[in-house]
Amino acid sequence: MSFVFRAVRGTKDILPDEAEYLRHIEVKAREISSLYGYREVITPVIENRDLFVRSLGKDTEVIGKQMFIIERGDDIIALRPEATAGVIRAYLENNLNSRNLLAKFYYFGPMFRAERPQKGRLRQFHHLGVEAVGSSSPLLDVEIISLAEVILKNIGISGFKIKINTLGCVEDKKAFAEKLRVILGGKISDFCQDCRERFDRNVFRLLDCKNSSCKNIILGLNIKRTDYLCGECLEHFDTVLAGLKNIGVNYEESAHLVRGLDYYTRTVFEITHSELGAQDAVGAGGRYDNLVEELGGEPTAAIGFAFGVERLLLVSSAKCQVPSKDLVFLIALGKGAEAASVKLLYSLRQNGIKADTLYEEKSLKGAMRRANDLGAKYVLILGENELKKNVVVFKDMASGEQREIKTEEVIAELMALAILKAKPLPYRLKGQI
Ligand SMILES: [Zn+2]
Ligand SMILES: [Zn+2]
Repeated sequence: MSFVFRAVRGTKDILPDEAEYLRHIEVKAREISSLYGYREVITPVIENRDLFVRSLGKDTEVIGKQMFIIERGDDIIALRPEATAGVIRAYLENNLNSRNLLAKFYYFGPMFRAERPQKGRLRQFHHLGVEAVGSSSPLLDVEIISLAEVILKNIGISGFKIKINTLGCVEDKKAFAEKLRVILGGKISDFCQDCRERFDRNVFRLLDCKNSSCKNIILGLNIKRTDYLCGECLEHFDTVLAGLKNIGVNYEESAHLVRGLDYYTRTVFEITHSELGAQDAVGAGGRYDNLVEELGGEPTAAIGFAFGVERLLLVSSAKCQVPSKDLVFLIALGKGAEAASVKLLYSLRQNGIKADTLYEEKSLKGAMRRANDLGAKYVLILGENELKKNVVVFKDMASGEQREIKTEEVIAELMALAILKAKPLPYRLKGQI
C-alpha cells in the first residue's frame, strides 16, 4: 500500500471499542434524561448562519473564527457549532411554546468548529445536552445541574468538579461590563494579547483568562457578586446554591467563571476534569433567559447544558463496564457442516444469543484460538461426524467442560444457561432446529 487517504485534520474516527462506549454513554444519558422528563429533539446539522450570529453574538470567537460556512446561491449556511440555537429555532418555528408550558428537550449529535486542532478539541465532535425552555425558577437550575451530575456518575466518571457562578440579568451584565472596562482599562497593557483583543468584544472573558499574570490582576480585583448583581439575581443564585446543597450536589463557587457565549445570563456552570489539561471542561451550561426573545419569540426563560462526548471518552476509566452479551462461537469443519452451520447460526441469533463464526478458518486449532481472542464464553463445534450423529460438541471455555448436545436441543440448552438473559428478536425463524 503506497498511498492511503487520511481523515481531515481535526477529525477522528471512532473505532469499534470507543464507539461501543460512546453509544453506552448515549444510551445512559437518554435513559436518565427521560427519567427527568426530557424528550429527544433532532434538529439539522446545518442552519442559517445568521441564527448563530444572532444567538452566540457576532463578536464571539465561535462566530469570528470557528464557523464552517457553506454558500449556495444566496443562502449562507453554517454547520452548527452548538445545538442550543437550533433547538430554540425549532421550538419557535414549530410553536412548541404555544401552551406556555415548560418544554424539556435532550439531544445527541455532531457539532462542527473550524478551530485550530489540539488535544480535546476537534473540528467535528459530539455534544449531548439538554434544554429546558419556559421557566425562570431557580429550582429548574438545580434540576439541570443535578441531571448533569447524575449522568456523569452513571456513565462511570468520577473526579470531576462542578464550578458555578452567576452573571446576573442583562441589566446587571451591562452595568458590570461598563464597570470592568473602567477598572481594567487603565491596566490593559498588563494583560496578554488575547485579553487585549477581547477587551472591547467581551470584557468578561478577561475574568477567566488562564494566563498567570492576567489571573493575578483579576484575583487582585476581589470581585464579589454583591458588587454587580441586583437583588432578584442575588436571591435567584442563593436559591440555586441552597437547592444543590439540599440534594447533596458538590459544587465550587467560581467568581471568574463567565463562559464564552453572549447568550448566557444568571446561572452559569462548567464541569471540569483534572485529567484534561488546559482545556479541562467536559461540559458546561447555564441560563439564557433572553435568547428566545432574541430569536423572535416572547420573553421566555431557559436553561441547558451540553457535554463534549469526546472529552467524556478521554476521562472515562470505565470503558470496560459496557454491558455486553456472552458470545457463542460456532466452528464448522467440512463442507456439509459448514452448510448446516448457516441455519444453526441464524437460529442462535434469532433467539437473541450473540453468536459468531469464522468463515475462512479451516483448522480446529486456528478456530479455537480465534474464539479465545474474541472472548467467547461457549464454543460449538460441528464436524462431519457430529453432523451424521445429529449433535454438536459444546465447550464451556471457562471450565473446559466439553460434551455433546443434540442439535435440536442446542438453543434450549444455551437459553437455560441464561446467556445474559437472552431476549429473542421480535421476528423469529419459523421452525426451530
Ligand atoms: Zn439582575
Ligand atoms: Zn489574558
